[in-house]
Amino acid sequence: MYGLTESDLDIQRRAAAFAEELIPFEVTAELAGGELPGVVTAAHAARAHELGLCATNMPAELGGGGCTTLQQVLVQEQAGRVTNALGWVASTPPSWLPAVATADQIERYVRPAVRGEREECYAITEEGAGSDVAAIGATARRDGDGYLLNGTKWHVTSYNTADFAFFQARLDGGPHHGKHAMFLVDLPSPGVGVVRTPAYTHTISHHHPIVSFTDVRVPAANLIGAEGDGMSFAYEWFRFERLMVAARCLGAAGRLTGEMTAFACERQAGGRPISEYGLVGGMLADSLTELYAARALTYETARGIDRGIDVKVSHAQCSMAKLYCSEMAGRVADRAVQVFGGRGYMRENVAERFYRELRVERIWEGTSEVQRAIIAGQMVKRGPAALA
Ligand SMILES: Cc1cc2nc3c(=O)[nH]c(=O)nc-3n(C[C@H](O)[C@H](O)[C@H](O)COP(=O)(O)OP(=O)(O)OC[C@H]3O[C@@H](n4cnc5c(N)ncnc54)[C@H](O)[C@@H]3O)c2cc1C
Repeated sequence: MYGLTESDLDIQRRAAAFAEELIPFEVTAELAGGELPGVVTAAHAARAHELGLCATNMPAELGGGGCTTLQQVLVQEQAGRVTNALGWVASTPPSWLPAVATADQIERYVRPAVRGEREECYAITEEGAGSDVAAIGATARRDGDGYLLNGTKWHVTSYNTADFAFFQARLDGGPHHGKHAMFLVDLPSPGVGVVRTPAYTHTISHHHPIVSFTDVRVPAANLIGAEGDGMSFAYEWFRFERLMVAARCLGAAGRLTGEMTAFACERQAGGRPISEYGLVGGMLADSLTELYAARALTYETARGIDRGIDVKVSHAQCSMAKLYCSEMAGRVADRAVQVFGGRGYMRENVAERFYRELRVERIWEGTSEVQRAIIAGQMVKRGPAALA
């Protein structure tokens, strides 16, 4: 099905087997605030590397998997089958970075990230700038042979495990005053500190603290690309990550569809399996139908990127995949809770965990409203037929 090649099926099988290894750890993680013992997490990371599931998005010449976009989707789809973000160990370092990084940045950040020795976090969103990234107030001021960075960033995912941050700021002074620039900031660094670590809806080991940067000095060698390039990197990251969000939502919906079907066949009510009640069968049917449509959309979007289609077209298609898959997975999780009945409201049940965890997929990497605005904008510019 889906016209997958033998090598696509091979990596898909490895990722699926890995997901099955992780699933037994979900409830322990859920009941322990998302945390597993360090040795267990380290073993999971080592296993993901051993199976060739890490850095699938990075060029082979830098030690990455050099996989097609479709293969990256296949791996992330399987990672998405697992709750509590345990699948995140199949890491995807910043694939936009090698093309713009200096030789020094490749050695200090890219290669170690590919090897799994260094981990990044993104410090972009601010209290007053999320959907409107361009409105950020953080600043970068040239200071001798370096820059001074200032600003307070929100929702910095994985700050607690990362050892470097991408920091986006507006240039303060100089020929590119007011334009955006992106910097690499080693963690810890003097002047970088956690303001607070809010609790979020999901139960995962990755925190999303508010982080302040106060007169943080970085060498000029930590500027990525040129002054004024900052926004273009964010867009490239969004295209990639939106497609991977879509992939993980497929995995979640696939797991839920399987689990709710099995439960509906097994649970007897009124002397027969609940799957025989049309109202329950309808929830199963709608879920699989939407999943099938979402998977076809996502795989085709990935194939388009592999064929080298126009970047603006793929930008809109990645938005369509992220929009549809995240909303589809939310609907599937809601139905799954309903099919499981009271059991679906228990934290030990996969439907309950996904019901909470999937909500953010409609918010981060651009809200559903932002995706719709991007799609509509491209429809008006190019015509619907250019996009679908
Ligand atoms: C768990 C979590 C982890 C995150 N991780 C990171 C991270 O690692 N790094 C990082 O930089 N950011 C991160 N974010 C931030 C995330 O990308 C933003 O929350 C998201 O882009 C939305 O921005 P906002 O929260 O400011 O919402 P707002 O922009 O305030 O939006 C509020 C509402 O207004 C709507 N809205 C806003 N603008 C428009 C518009 N033009 N048209 C229509 N509707 C609009 C939105 O759709 C939404 O419904 C994370 C967020 C969460 C929740």
